[in-house]
Amino acid sequence: MRIRAGLVAAAAVALALASAEASELPIFDAHIHFSHDAAEQIPLKDAVAILRKAGLKGALVSSSNDEGTQKLYEAAPDIVVPELRPYRSRGEIGTWVRDATVIDYLEVRLKRYKYVAIGEFHLYGADADLPVPRRMVELAKQYDLMLHAHSDADAVERLFAQWPQARVLWAHAGFDRPEKVREMLRRHRNLWCDLAFRTDHANGGKVDAEWRKAFEEFPERFMVGTDTFTPERWYFIGEHADWSREWLKDLPPALAERIAWKNGEAVIRSAFARKR
Ligand SMILES: [Zn+2]
Repeated sequence: MRIRAGLVAAAAVALALASAEASELPIFDAHIHFSHDAAEQIPLKDAVAILRKAGLKGALVSSSNDEGTQKLYEAAPDIVVPELRPYRSRGEIGTWVRDATVIDYLEVRLKRYKYVAIGEFHLYGADADLPVPRRMVELAKQYDLMLHAHSDADAVERLFAQWPQARVLWAHAGFDRPEKVREMLRRHRNLWCDLAFRTDHANGGKVDAEWRKAFEEFPERFMVGTDTFTPERWYFIGEHADWSREWLKDLPPALAERIAWKNGEAVIRSAFARKR
């Protein structure tokens, strides 16, 4: 009798754990890098385990150079959606806009592999109109790719001026104020934002009032992201997912689900699926 009661209790605990896992909010992380230094330091199977343990349903992944992205995509094609970064190494963040060899590199990779986007790239103000970024935008147009721009509002405007039908994922929502972000979203229907590497939208599990207005006005335009710009930040992916789940609880469930993963699936995964 006692044994049976114990078994029933154990089964109940197992069931509770399973349902807790099942009800855990999935996360689409729209800002992951697996660059050369991360790929050297973190074994591929460990990297995949980090993504799975974090409960990621999807991840928009890019890397300097592209090898890390391709390896990770091969190892976890159910999670990873690849995008092509215009950098061959970390040091090119500030120099690529004037380096014509970047275009050759992009052309070679675009012919060889499938991507959903070009990015994340760093591009500010009038630099967006330099020949190399312009040519990159033309390639994105030719291959029907999104642009993942770590940019100020000025550069985003210039990208849309070059290609009015562009689909732009604005990295870190430009590190701009929520009021300005709303203004940009009103002006451009093909603009989405990742909230990577910013914490001003939520504190202690509560959503900031101005950001709440932005999320409510544009429920379909925001995604969360970790931004693993250094190898160490890989160990923050699970923590970031949990932190996101915490503040998302402060929003209506349907809105929380959109920001957590549905927008990533609808905008990023579906665009990639159309290419295959
Ligand atoms: Zn980044």
